[in-house]
Amino acid sequence: NRAKQAGYSYAYFNVAHDRRNPHDIEKTAALHHAIERGELQVYYQPVVTASDHRLIGHEALVRWNRPGGMVSPAEFIPLAEATGQILNIGAFVLRQAALDAHTRRIGRVSVNVSAREFEQPGYAEQVRAVLEETGVDPDLLVLEITESSLLNAERAGAVLNDLRSLGVRLALDDFGTGYSSLGAMSSLPVQILKIDRSFTRDLGREGPAGTRALEVIRAIVTLAGAMEVLTVAEGVETPLQAALLREVRCTFLQGFLFGRPAPLPALD
Ligand code: C2E
Ligand code: MG
Ligand code: MG
Ligand code: MG
Repeated sequence: NRAKQAGYSYAYFNVAHDRRNPHDIEKTAALHHAIERGELQVYYQPVVTASDHRLIGHEALVRWNRPGGMVSPAEFIPLAEATGQILNIGAFVLRQAALDAHTRRIGRVSVNVSAREFEQPGYAEQVRAVLEETGVDPDLLVLEITESSLLNAERAGAVLNDLRSLGVRLALDDFGTGYSSLGAMSSLPVQILKIDRSFTRDLGREGPAGTRALEVIRAIVTLAGAMEVLTVAEGVETPLQAALLREVRCTFLQGFLFGRPAPLPALD
């Protein structure tokens, strides 16, 4: 009915209006300058084997080194996704990560790809151009994609196949927090599942929450085995969590226990 429609459009207007609040306008402009002035920096967090904690690579995580202090990606990635600035940020991070993987012997490097980038026509072609320009061995690169990027499963499958045929690896990030069907997902050409930190967090706690986290992670690792993909547990903070993850045969671990995201040492 009409009143309801009016109500909806009013609510919609408010959401749209909020996006243009003065704070966001200011931040959008600042982010624009950040990209131009080189205030964005790529930090790297180590990823180790669960069996013996050998370093096998790093995840690239963007930071905004703002004159007033460091701004976390949680604070500017969502805004950058709304404004489209994520396309520039993503291109910068991918190129830097590819260069560092190629020249700094830091192992395999994972790069986060946002839905907005992934859905761009010609995204795989852009990745191909970066591989060519930097000369990196594609085998050293992993692209992390979240389930929410894969909502259009058919098109997503085609893009993933194009990316895969470039020789890069593909990981599903924040696994277990989305709502995609296992059927659709198990047919995707991904090689790695990243178990979301929300599961790791409760691991090793006393009581039912700890037990449940362990069993859920065990189930994810079993599923990964059936899909013939490897697993990375995010957010590993304690030796007990690392021991439990090794016991359930998770492949790789990432978390503050092994190292926080940090810049690479400066070259002299
Ligand atoms: P993510 O890809 O799931 O990355 C893991 C996040 O968990 C990182 O947060 C990392 O610092 C944090 N983390 C790792 N180990 C631990 C731990 O042991 N304890 C705790 N409490 N946290 C841990 P960060 O760097 O703040 O990034 C947050 C999110 O922002 C990322 O989640 C990713 O979705 C997004 N992001 C970061 N860099 C980029 C980028 O270059 N491009 C895009 N599109 N997204 C990015
Ligand atoms: Mg990630
Ligand atoms: Mg993640
Ligand atoms: Mg996460």
